[in-house]
Amino acid sequence: MHNALNQSISPPSRADCEQLDQSDPLAHWREAFELPDGVIYLDGNSLGPLPRTTRERVLKCVSDEWGRDLIKSWNTAGWMDLPAKVGAEIATLIGARADEVVVADSTSVNLFKVLSAAVKMRPDRRVILSEKGNFPTDLYIAQGLTDLLDAGHELKLVEREEIPAAIDASVAVVMLTQVDYRTGSRLNMKEITSLAHEVNAVAIWDLAHSAGAIPVDLNNANADFAVGCGYKYLNGGPGAPAFLFVASRHADSFTQPLSGWMGHKKPFEFGTDYEPATGVARYLCGSPPVLSMVALDSGVQVMTKAVIGHGMDAIHAKACRLADIFLDRLLAEDNPFGLTRLTPHDVHERGSQASLSLPDGDQAYAVVQALIAEGIIGDFRAPNIMRFGFAPLYLSHLEVYDAAEKLLQIMRDETWRQDRFLTRQAVT
Ligand SMILES: *Cc1c(COP(=O)(O)O)cnc(C)c1O
Repeated sequence: MHNALNQSISPPSRADCEQLDQSDPLAHWREAFELPDGVIYLDGNSLGPLPRTTRERVLKCVSDEWGRDLIKSWNTAGWMDLPAKVGAEIATLIGARADEVVVADSTSVNLFKVLSAAVKMRPDRRVILSEKGNFPTDLYIAQGLTDLLDAGHELKLVEREEIPAAIDASVAVVMLTQVDYRTGSRLNMKEITSLAHEVNAVAIWDLAHSAGAIPVDLNNANADFAVGCGYKYLNGGPGAPAFLFVASRHADSFTQPLSGWMGHKKPFEFGTDYEPATGVARYLCGSPPVLSMVALDSGVQVMTKAVIGHGMDAIHAKACRLADIFLDRLLAEDNPFGLTRLTPHDVHERGSQASLSLPDGDQAYAVVQALIAEGIIGDFRAPNIMRFGFAPLYLSHLEVYDAAEKLLQIMRDETWRQDRFLTRQAVT
């Protein structure tokens, strides 16, 4: 199985793809999503599509819970429990215990909270280790915290290959993103966490491109903290709240600085002094965004049902197969356009996306825009990367084949040279 996935001898034909769709046990999950006609959606890694159940669920929340039952709904509709309830569902996707995960705020804010706690766990050390290519918000948050602490902390950034060697006894916290947002390559969470623990450093993992995309086992890897996104592979909707994980062995030992009332032991006693709640609940800050929470709840439930039915290994295996059909098609023949595959071949070393670079960044940007104009939605990442997400619950092999054909056609016909494709927009 492993080999068959890694070494595609000759790329499948269009007819092969039709065959693959017919025998695909995941094919029926497409019905769980609302996708517009004429669109091949290869951007679920940036914003997952709308699950059908979510429309109903949000409408019910608006009209019955908010509109009719008003403030009673905090109790009667379980609004107050949403951060823990949705956290417990997400826990099943990331190898965590139900009481180790909560949903709140954004990934950036959650990273601030867990990084603050982690730094406090190693008061005699000053180095936060990460990689240069980490997602910028992670680095910005670490810079902001370092500034705020004003205690000589240093954010040390190394190249990806240099991470293991850089983990030494000066390091307080190793803060990494498991799946690289640009290339889709995956770090070995268990190995790196173990290296961190050998020198008594704390390990924080950002699972933005992992949760709902690959098998994740935080407790098997002995991770200390983790954060991740609700709006990508969990299909929680634009700006969906994020999640955070705190290993139960740490949950009651440290506090985080955003000590808002929702993380208080007894918020409705309205005492003057902050007393942290027990467990991961102390990582909550303010009131949960209920409309966004119910949308996320519904999105996560689609994912957890699919995982119960098929297993995350099978779901990720299909993502890799789809990505390889796409990449192999583009890189077959003589590759006259100078495309370079950035995504690893081995299923254990990758996420669910596929990335290619072109020698010229402006061209890469324009090709993606020309594809979007044809209804094939991927995205561009500076400086010269075309990035495509292969969410296996709603994509077919045939769509992926056709998307590759269209990309080749755009390159051959040089459609991308039109001015409207070359002008950069604010969100790429
Ligand atoms: C998408 C992403 C985020 C997003 O952070 P927000 O605060 O939710 O906007 C954070 N980290 C990584 C690695 C990401 O890919």
